[in-house]
Amino acid sequence: MKVLVINCGSSSLKFQLIDAQSQELLFKGLCERIGIDHSQISYTATGSEKVKKEVAMPDHKTAVSLVLTALTESGAVASLSEIDAVGHRIVHGGEKFTSSVVIDEEVIGAIEEVSDLAPLHNPANIIGIRACMELMPGVPMVAVFDTAFHQTMPEEAYLYGLPYSYYTEYGIRRYGFHGTSHSYVSKKVAEIEGKDYESIKTIVCHLGNGASVSAVKNGKCVDTSMGLTPLEGLIMGTRSGAIDPSVVEMIEKKTGKDTAGVMNVLNKESGVYGLSGNISSDFRDLEDAYIEGNENAIRAVDCFVYQVVKYIGAYAAAMGGVDCIAFTAGVGENSGFIRKLIVNRLGLFDITLNEEANKVRGEEKLISMPGSKVNVYVVPTNEELAIAKDTYALLA
Ligand code: AMP
Repeated sequence: MKVLVINCGSSSLKFQLIDAQSQELLFKGLCERIGIDHSQISYTATGSEKVKKEVAMPDHKTAVSLVLTALTESGAVASLSEIDAVGHRIVHGGEKFTSSVVIDEEVIGAIEEVSDLAPLHNPANIIGIRACMELMPGVPMVAVFDTAFHQTMPEEAYLYGLPYSYYTEYGIRRYGFHGTSHSYVSKKVAEIEGKDYESIKTIVCHLGNGASVSAVKNGKCVDTSMGLTPLEGLIMGTRSGAIDPSVVEMIEKKTGKDTAGVMNVLNKESGVYGLSGNISSDFRDLEDAYIEGNENAIRAVDCFVYQVVKYIGAYAAAMGGVDCIAFTAGVGENSGFIRKLIVNRLGLFDITLNEEANKVRGEEKLISMPGSKVNVYVVPTNEELAIAKDTYALLA
């Protein structure tokens, strides 16, 4: 089954065509600046050169239409009838969606209903669904939610210490994100260990530009660091992570910014970017500066590392132990430097880093020494493949 995986953002659209059975990637690309000037599409069909061109994309429907044209023009498919299904990444499923579902009008309505929980993302996701429906009538579609995997969290982990009615009336609670990645990676860890997924305790550190940690016990997510929105938890590229809510009021008073202005600071000007005095949100730049002894970079990276260590400790306690720790996403998969800073602070777990193995980049690998009480792995995430597999599982 050939599945077109669509990840539709407010001004971007990422796409991949995957053979869900052979797990082969056939085509991938990105539309950028949709609805803005100088929009462009770039794509690569497996075995071909990358194509990049500027084309007017006033809306998402035009973008989807260009993707479909590119699929045939590049030879990735001979005709669009070869596309058997579409898998859509949906950011927020609220409490309505605990797993992936086949899309129909009722599902679209339910995604719309939870849109106030993700006002920037869910409407864009729906636009992507509608555009595909119009341009590929009759092709079945599946929605895969970033929040679904975390729906197994117990009440004690997802409730905030707020008036309970805010939860029951407004749905204010921890939802968690990156669920497709946490699910994929925790399953991979069980597979590599040769253990039953239902009887292993894993902490997954998804460290990318957005970053989150999750605790997966006996095949279920029991806690995760992101919250109502992807702003909570770890210090990230440009996001603050968890702060005292009073900070918002304080920034408003000191700077004269309104709430939207402060939220913009917390989402776009904070994290390691803000902490480093705006050196960069990219960990490659920070790593270089750190090695040169730049104290701003050292401060930012050390704060980030400390937060990851703190969550690992907390989640080990929450699960009553931990068997494995996995690093994934841009930083987790590629930066031996950051992994070393983190693992060297996990002495409590009798982990010794295998320095040679830790040189690995983007490959599945055990990076702790044999005999460590907790096995530490690098596991490349593949959210698109997970979406294609879910789509296949629901439609086959
Ligand atoms: P993601 O959001 O998962 O795409 O990850 C993006 C982040 O991964 C960026 O901050 C990149 O700097 C970081 N990243 C990618 N490659 C490396 C690398 N070799 N070393 C350090 N960080 C990296």
